[in-house]
Amino acid sequence: MADLPTFSTPPGFLGVTRHDAAARIVVAGIPLDVGTSNRAGARDGPAAIRRASRMLTDGAHPQHWVDPAALDLADIGDFAIALGDIPGSLELIEQQAAPLGHLVALGGEHGVTLALLRALRRRAGAPLALVHFDAHVDTWPDNFGQRYAHGSVFFHAIEEGLVDPARMVQLGIRSPVQREVWDWTVGKGVTILTAQQIHETPAHETAAEIRRVIGRAPAYLSFDIDALDPAFAPGTGTPEVGGLATWQGQAILRRLGGPEPPDFRGMDLVEVAPAYDTAEITALAGATLVWEYLALIGER
Ligand code: MN
Ligand code: MN
Repeated sequence: MADLPTFSTPPGFLGVTRHDAAARIVVAGIPLDVGTSNRAGARDGPAAIRRASRMLTDGAHPQHWVDPAALDLADIGDFAIALGDIPGSLELIEQQAAPLGHLVALGGEHGVTLALLRALRRRAGAPLALVHFDAHVDTWPDNFGQRYAHGSVFFHAIEEGLVDPARMVQLGIRSPVQREVWDWTVGKGVTILTAQQIHETPAHETAAEIRRVIGRAPAYLSFDIDALDPAFAPGTGTPEVGGLATWQGQAILRRLGGPEPPDFRGMDLVEVAPAYDTAEITALAGATLVWEYLALIGER
């Protein structure tokens, strides 16, 4: 990228010009948002995240000393979805994710993660460990009668055996929630680290707790941008005050690096809704967290 100023970077994520699915790491957008329970608009997330990612092409990550744009990385564009049809879209997403190696998905609403986990669970051959950043537990059995909306993704992921709840940790949780939904989640063995707990704990201790929960199992990172406080990520459908600062998400991910990083097999960054954003700060936060992930897994 040395010759072009960042504002002239090609339109793929981090300006990558490779578009084939044979790369070691494949970025894809998933512009689904009909399962959002409050404000819609995450369909525009992938384009906004790609655009904001241009800021991150001018050098290497200053801790891992990896330039994510220089990894074996392709951006294959956006997945096809079935317009207005959640189950039809989940089926299409699963089909498109199935043959891909290490997928980094740009949402789209959080409901897409269910299809991605279905595909990855089959590849991994065992339930996955899960690191889940969110303001919401997303373990409601349904949302307003819709079985596969964005707030029920991890209810189904647990019920379908896609993730091992004993190796699942949720970070940033703080929204209103029915007591029975909370109790069901904890009763399954999920570790919940509330936003309050994270604020009161140094990042390296939070990272150590993540490592303790997920161990060396094949793991997945699902980052709902609403884990961040609306001051740092206003551009999302279901904002909740009291959330993480961008630096906290970044610091926790950085503290997962080192000699024995988690065995991550894929990631998604979901719920960026640019229509509510201000000065692209949400899109930039999303792009930067994906960049952090790429630098972390690129260190190996
Ligand atoms: Mn979510
Ligand atoms: Mn959320």
